[in-house]
Amino acid sequence: MYWEEKIETMDIGTLRSLQLSRLRKTLERAKTTPYYKKLFEEIGLDTDIKSLAHIRDIPFTTKNDLRENYPYGFLAVPKEKIVRMHSSSGTTGRATVIFHTREDIDNWSNLVARSIYMTGARSEDVFQNTMGYGLFTGGLGLHYGAEKVGMMVIPSGTGNSVRQINIMRDFDTTVIHILPSYAFRLLDVFESESLDPRKDVKLRIAFIGAEPHSEEMRKKIEESYDMDAFNSYGLSEMNGPGVAFECPEKKGMHVWEDSYLIEVINPKTLEPMPDGVEGELVFTTLNRKGMPIIRYRTRDLASLYTGKCPCGRSHRRLSRIKGRTDDMLIVKGVNMFPIQVETVLMKFPEIGRNYQIRLETKGHMDEIYVEVEVLYPADDMREYEGLKNRIAAALHSEILVTPKIILHQPGAIPRAEGKAVRVVDNRVKE
Ligand code: AMP
Ligand code: ZN
Repeated sequence: MYWEEKIETMDIGTLRSLQLSRLRKTLERAKTTPYYKKLFEEIGLDTDIKSLAHIRDIPFTTKNDLRENYPYGFLAVPKEKIVRMHSSSGTTGRATVIFHTREDIDNWSNLVARSIYMTGARSEDVFQNTMGYGLFTGGLGLHYGAEKVGMMVIPSGTGNSVRQINIMRDFDTTVIHILPSYAFRLLDVFESESLDPRKDVKLRIAFIGAEPHSEEMRKKIEESYDMDAFNSYGLSEMNGPGVAFECPEKKGMHVWEDSYLIEVINPKTLEPMPDGVEGELVFTTLNRKGMPIIRYRTRDLASLYTGKCPCGRSHRRLSRIKGRTDDMLIVKGVNMFPIQVETVLMKFPEIGRNYQIRLETKGHMDEIYVEVEVLYPADDMREYEGLKNRIAAALHSEILVTPKIILHQPGAIPRAEGKAVRVVDNRVKE
């Protein structure tokens, strides 16, 4: 049931002392990097800190710090010790790059193995990895962990949906790694091939993540494929997948606290938030040799669950990620997150598998459009007038502004190649 029972079920006291001793080592290693050497000197840091709370004496590291010290300013080992580079999938600004030693790759693969073993994946399984291979961590990251578990790994990569389905059928894929938005898109392809994902393929487990998605979306994916879908959270700066993963309870994702120190802060005041209260996630690597990162501000918003998990693992659980601080939209003066719109939309059975939020300036006012595909084609979209009004009313009670709903035939809204693009902001910037 456990990949590493001792670590996964370690009592909290022991886990915290392990964290402290690893944090001290991490600070020692960080002191040898150009970036932290300078920083620690400036703040006069004694790396032999006495408690975990003392980490608050160290300033946060931001994406901007990584960018400004691109490419090697965070390296703690000579370059010849590095065996792999990855990068974030960000589309704005200079990419951030992360370097790993051989030991880092081993430790990362082990965390991924621990995560996926927890969901029930075993060596008998056939694993199809539909995530991008390349600089993005979802491909190689899961790949190595899955091999460690002993599954037969099919590195199918992204795209070519018909071929993906053929592979599933030819090799009896049982476990899949897939973007939630792509799991939806693939349903259309099953349909056009006159195949039923519930009957014509043998999928039983999916790892879904890399982008925000709602509980409702998970349920729809599980029902449409008749499989269990587990939320997987990670970011390239903290390796990638294997930072936090859902256990079979499916109530939050266990953060592997032996390898990451997690903090939740108020993104405005930067004060620490207690467990159970939502804030921005901040991570410190505790076991990375090549490129230690301390107090990295992820901009991801979530909270830590309080209370023990019935699965027996002691590592704290993270809630679903609500979005990033920069995903927050201010429309007509009201704050909202795209995920709130998704949660409402997914409750309408008539609605299809893709949606987009479009913001425009009309006069001097914001206008919000929610573009939605219906599930079944209609000869005349006017048939759906009643549905439109019901969606608008349901959205109003969630986000407090009334959006204009635009309904489309199935497949009409453009699909992104990688992570889904949920918001198009065409507003005139003052
Ligand atoms: P990258 O560094 O390109 O791998 O992207 C990492 C980012 O993807 C994270 O900081 C999150 O914003 C997002 N992300 C990853 N996994 C999830 C997840 N399970 N739910 C929501 N967002 C996620
Ligand atoms: Zn659990």
